[in-house]
Amino acid sequence: MPDNLPRITERAIQNWVGEPSFSRGRRYFRNGAIFDARREGMTLKALCQGSAAAPYRVRVTLSSSGVADAECSCPVGAGGHCKHVAALLLTWLHHPEYFREAPPLAQRLRDLDKDALIKLIQRMIDHNPELETAVEVWIPAMTGQGTIDAESLRRRVHRIIDHIPYEWGASYAAAAELREVVKEGEMLEDAGRWWEAAQFYGVIAEELMESYGNIYEEEGEFIEVLSTCGERLGLCLAELRDPGQREVVIRRLYEMVAWDIDQGGYGADEWAHFALVEDTTPEERAMVAEWVQKALEEEKRKGTETEGFSRQWRLQAYGGLMIDLLKDVLDDEAYLELCRESGRQKDVVVRLVQMGRVDEARREAASLSDYELLMVAQQIDKEPRRRKLARELLSMRADSTNDTRILGQLLAWAREDGDADALFRLAQRRFEMRPDLASYQAWREIGRQRGDWETVRAEILRSLEQQGAWRLLVEILLDEKAYDDAIAAFGSWRQQASWGGHHFMVRVADALAEARPQAAMEIYAEAVEQLVAQRKRPSYAEAAQLLKRIRDILIRQGNARIWDDLIASFRQQYKRLPALQDELNRAGL
Ligand SMILES: [Zn+2]
Repeated sequence: MPDNLPRITERAIQNWVGEPSFSRGRRYFRNGAIFDARREGMTLKALCQGSAAAPYRVRVTLSSSGVADAECSCPVGAGGHCKHVAALLLTWLHHPEYFREAPPLAQRLRDLDKDALIKLIQRMIDHNPELETAVEVWIPAMTGQGTIDAESLRRRVHRIIDHIPYEWGASYAAAAELREVVKEGEMLEDAGRWWEAAQFYGVIAEELMESYGNIYEEEGEFIEVLSTCGERLGLCLAELRDPGQREVVIRRLYEMVAWDIDQGGYGADEWAHFALVEDTTPEERAMVAEWVQKALEEEKRKGTETEGFSRQWRLQAYGGLMIDLLKDVLDDEAYLELCRESGRQKDVVVRLVQMGRVDEARREAASLSDYELLMVAQQIDKEPRRRKLARELLSMRADSTNDTRILGQLLAWAREDGDADALFRLAQRRFEMRPDLASYQAWREIGRQRGDWETVRAEILRSLEQQGAWRLLVEILLDEKAYDDAIAAFGSWRQQASWGGHHFMVRVADALAEARPQAAMEIYAEAVEQLVAQRKRPSYAEAAQLLKRIRDILIRQGNARIWDDLIASFRQQYKRLPALQDELNRAGL
């Protein structure tokens, strides 16, 4: 191995990629999957033949202390912890002679004269015709001449998004490729060619929106690309001065928002929405508002033809855009009318309160959903003189809601106001809605400040018993150090739970280990039996840890001899399970 590169060890490779990637990488290495390997200074590059038809590109940069950085073009290769990186490093470790030495690419290109560079580029285009359309986009950017060749850009986008195979990772790879295309627009931005840049992003966005229904994607990776197009278009709009060009860009941004609304809200339009509201003149906003008005009328005209919920959502979304566009010019009545028209009832309530029309606000609030009412109350509460009203509005739902967020907010307010009765009632409501240890503890903390907590507590425990909520009962009793009651309740839980639950068992045993060691050891032992019965190495390792806890208790009690007998007979009982014996050895048992 050359002296100027640090040695890499198998252990270092294993630490970098993790165990599963390491063993799979070793198979790749043995099968000779790494080829075309070269080294540029501290950087190793190679192709790796993986499961896909085309090989993955793998790159690792080493440092004096090991791997500094790595990446791979495979679907899980971000960060460079995949099996292909492992295979590359193993190849470097065992066969450094496979790696051609080469000076960094940029340096070699600088050394070429112009004719040679042209020949090289021509060759590359012959080899990969895809590059031709890319170069067509780059030339106007770099020379300041010519316009965007929209047709070739369209073809390029379609070569990426059409016919994405239905296999895992394929859509991520295609989206990554498209993201790279979008990034090329930054060359136009850097050259100050905002109009060309806007056309560039506009074409990509248009094709994506038009073809979206036919694209196969995993979880919104193309929506993200579309959102980026909106972001870049917004940046272009902020720089453009020509009114005609601005109108074209604004139209495109509006189409993106409208598309997203019509699709039911993918969230691809946040940047476009922002640009329409923030980077436009009042006249331009009025123009967009007219388009929105038409869309609203269209939605209303369609009436009941379309499904109720999504129609209502679209009305609200368009209405929201309208309100944002006109917020500086609308008077109260026009605002209320617009909110009503677009089904934005919660904005109606907030504005009525601000106008001092409180009784009306109260009536209108009745038709809000629980969550909407919470939003409204929180907004109203921001104004100190309206805080009483905010509490009153939200309290109307305290007894009927199933939304813990409402109770959480009411509790916070009751605490703020020092309202002991309200606190107790709300804490009880929350426990009944979601009975768990945390909501019990919160209730107890409030209840103990009153005189009658012991009576209330007895009722709670009796009711949990009647419901057979043994697990929660055990947790509460352990929390209150009522160990013997907890052990009894745990016994009932054991009868009821037919299978598994060893995590809970271990938690209970841990809680009992100090105060009731005998019971704790019995529970540990039962969990050990369950784990061993799973016949899996990780379960064996866990079982060994529990045996250690039994050992510690016995030694603390001065019963080392009992422990010796116990572990000996345990090993004897399972002598046919070598993996278990191995885990016991590892744990030093
Ligand atoms: Zn990889």
